[in-house]
Amino acid sequence: MRHETEMGRIEERIKSCKRCELRKTRTNPVVGEGSLSAKIVFVGEAPGYYEDLKGEPFVGKAGKVLDDLLASVELQRSDVYIANVLKCRPPDNRNPATEEIRACTPHLDAQLEIIRPEIIATLGNFSLAYIFDKFGLQRDKISKMHGKVFTVSTIAGVVKIVPLYHPAVATYNPNMMETLIDDFKVLVECL
Ligand code: URA
Repeated sequence: MRHETEMGRIEERIKSCKRCELRKTRTNPVVGEGSLSAKIVFVGEAPGYYEDLKGEPFVGKAGKVLDDLLASVELQRSDVYIANVLKCRPPDNRNPATEEIRACTPHLDAQLEIIRPEIIATLGNFSLAYIFDKFGLQRDKISKMHGKVFTVSTIAGVVKIVPLYHPAVATYNPNMMETLIDDFKVLVECL
């Protein structure tokens, strides 16, 4: 129950957040979704068109790919937690700005602090960059890092970080689905 209360507080903070300008153009903030006792937290980039309309993460085309990938390792959304680096949609789905990432990520940090997952799976470049820098890890190109397991010790315990390609890549390059499926197998092997 304590976790629900704490996440509820974060949700309220996100809804009334004025730390950047994105609140002026978004429809709904996308807080995140899933189990607060999840062992795996997926961190995407930012809400897109449909996520902004619904206020839920990964509900567009990339979300369908994510659901298929979860199913490939017999997981459902309710087994994991799905969040984003940015909680509000950047206009026209442009890349997140450095200032927006700086302003918004205290919300993600607070979510990770509540859930304390065993595994953080980054989805795409912006998520990889933020999480690797946060944990003081050296980063390289996603093409070199995807599907590898990086272990960090924190005061709260050991966390495994697994960089993954963003599921959207499979919407414009279906061949990438195989790579993503292989990388998802790595995720569950870590559990
Ligand atoms: N892409 C993301 O990175 N996050 C979403 O929630 C949807 C699409």
